[in-house]
Amino acid sequence: MPYCRTDQPHQPVLEVETHEQLSADEQAQACATSVCLVLAADWNTTPVTVTFDDAEQPPFVCDGRDGDAEAEEVVLPRPLQLHEGKPLIVHAVELALKSSFAAVEVLLCDAGEYEAAAREALAAFEGLPVCMLSAEQVDKARQQACNFEILNVGAGALQQARTLLEETIGAESALILDCVQPRLTPWHLAQLPMRLAQHPGCHLVTSWIYWLRRLPILISAAGFEAIEERGLTKPRINSPFRPLPTLNVQEVVFGEEKLHANESSCTIRDEFLDACELSALEAVRLARKLQQADADEADELTGELNEASTKLVKLASEVLERMDGALDEAQTDELSCADAFGVRNKCDFPLLNDRAHKGKLVYLDSAATTQRLDVALQAEADFNCHENANIYRGSYALSAESTKTFNAARAVLEQRIGAERRQLILTANTTTGINIAAQAWGLRNLSEGDLVVIAHSEHHSNMLPWRLVAQARGAQVVYLGLGPDARIDMAEYEQLLEHKPRLVCIAQVSNVFGMVNPVEEMARMAHECGARIFVDAAQSLPHMAVNVDELGCDFLAFSGHKMYGPLGIGGLWVSTEAFDEMDPTMSGGGAISHVGEDSYYLRPAAIQYELGTPPIAQAVGLAAAAEHLDGLGMDAVHAHGSALCRYALAGLELLDGVTVWGEPGADDASGSLLSFNLEGVSSARIAADMGALQVCVRAGGQCALPLHASMGLDGSCRISFGIYNTAEDVEAAIVAVALSNKLASGRGFLKDAAH
Ligand code: PMP
Repeated sequence: MPYCRTDQPHQPVLEVETHEQLSADEQAQACATSVCLVLAADWNTTPVTVTFDDAEQPPFVCDGRDGDAEAEEVVLPRPLQLHEGKPLIVHAVELALKSSFAAVEVLLCDAGEYEAAAREALAAFEGLPVCMLSAEQVDKARQQACNFEILNVGAGALQQARTLLEETIGAESALILDCVQPRLTPWHLAQLPMRLAQHPGCHLVTSWIYWLRRLPILISAAGFEAIEERGLTKPRINSPFRPLPTLNVQEVVFGEEKLHANESSCTIRDEFLDACELSALEAVRLARKLQQADADEADELTGELNEASTKLVKLASEVLERMDGALDEAQTDELSCADAFGVRNKCDFPLLNDRAHKGKLVYLDSAATTQRLDVALQAEADFNCHENANIYRGSYALSAESTKTFNAARAVLEQRIGAERRQLILTANTTTGINIAAQAWGLRNLSEGDLVVIAHSEHHSNMLPWRLVAQARGAQVVYLGLGPDARIDMAEYEQLLEHKPRLVCIAQVSNVFGMVNPVEEMARMAHECGARIFVDAAQSLPHMAVNVDELGCDFLAFSGHKMYGPLGIGGLWVSTEAFDEMDPTMSGGGAISHVGEDSYYLRPAAIQYELGTPPIAQAVGLAAAAEHLDGLGMDAVHAHGSALCRYALAGLELLDGVTVWGEPGADDASGSLLSFNLEGVSSARIAADMGALQVCVRAGGQCALPLHASMGLDGSCRISFGIYNTAEDVEAAIVAVALSNKLASGRGFLKDAAH
């Protein structure tokens, strides 16, 4: 097997005492400019016990046990653990060999008693140079801490590799394949390519094993291209690692004019945006008018525009021209229906009709919070003006009336999710709902060693409350990964369920990708294994019909402010079975029916979790919003969002350097949002540029930092839709992104643009 692929003069790859040198012939062929080290270290960290079925019998002796014997449980060090029937280290070597490296060799650190087993596993690769490092050498390497921030957080194996590479081959053109670093979290790994990007010519590929379930490949952009060209492996979540944006733009050519030379792109951006007097929406509207105007009318329309505004309108024209041709006929029809729906709905939102914003503001951050419906504001105001009194307490008519109105609002909300009476706990928002469940159910039901499965893509709100309670009870949280298409990896889910977790936590719609997760199927599978399932419906309830019975879940939480209702109101629905397993961890007035000096009686069902005076007027407002949404029809709401998503996707795809995550236009997407990045431009910067043009989007980690870290990103930019958005809003957003692309990266703003 050709381990050395070029005939360039050989320089020693690694000079370490125990290094088995390449043969003379191999040395002659080998090339030091392109080296792959397969690094196997941390042999002695807590071994994981693995159960093998027949097909997965280890092909070698380990731990003094014979692989052929009936080894039900074999304790293997990580490099020897099996992935798809092969030891990880073998996978790692195969990957390395398939890549473009001139030379491949294996570095085994402190393999100790497993040396023979490792060598046996690697024997399949005839002539592969294998280098053993003793414990002392590893220690020495460890002590020589290199100037590499991330390594201070315990990345032992990579530190060794890095140090050795620096000492021997200067880390030039090296690729490190670390298959076995258990102490690295995805966040740590995410940092590495970014750091390595600061060392030109140095690529990094690292595979990270997490509980034997996956072998994600995290890789630098250049390394990824090399591997992708050969079609060898798919990145996770549609995402090659991208180097940390290094914004070193020397000049930006806008139109035919060079705006600046040798100045930072920030200055260029700020000056341009400061000078621009138009919002993106105004530029789009003007560009549309100009498309139909004759020369005189055009002069009149643009007569008063300053230089920057004129340029923005020109850019808008070019974007619109391209976007007009981007959809097929059916999609265009679908878009015009969605547009009409958005135009009609816009009238129902006071803020969007406010003089300060109308015709200028493009609100595309509805996943963070929606604008409030006038009917919801009105219902809340009416309650406060005409019916306000505390509920369940007063013996006077006003209190009876307010109690009746509140109960009616509760019934509307219960109906909205198909809940039985008294199963919906009114909360302040989704996060509070999740915390109530985590405390009331988690403290009672989780114990030492129990597993809680949380999807890797979860919002922090559906992650941290569970992590806290798991920690308090000695339970363990495991993350469920996503496939390359940003969908839940159902094969991995199945494997995780074999470990009999107590609980599964999943969002019905991801707040980063907008995909609808197969919650119904996941709930069925969870129940078959005796697990409860918590569904975060914060991003689904505003956009689709949701029925707890059909979902078959045990808990479901949502927020009113994301469904056009007031702030400070949300819900936690709990199934009867799960409800019986909960104990309130907080109490007080409102939650009890009777209190003696040594005893108290809880109120029936959900109300015992509603502490003190509930947000009465807010519940009334939210019920009005829910009824309004139902009146529009959730199918129509969903179709509207999907059409806008597809249009936005088509627009973004016109841009140079853009990556859109997941598949926002797909049938199983919620149609509510999409996230993207521009190569070399931080998401914060894109959002700030868009904000300067009055287009409101979310940027950053989006409360899903572990997900972003696993994608090698510090954040992404999210466009999210509400029922009031129109085709024009999408166009304005694309114009704003295109401008940001131009100003911040120095690339052309559109693919194949004339300038
Ligand atoms: N879960 C998801 C999926 C979300 O998108 C959000 C809000 N971004 C939350 C939970 C938290 O919602 P709230 O802030 O209303 O509690």
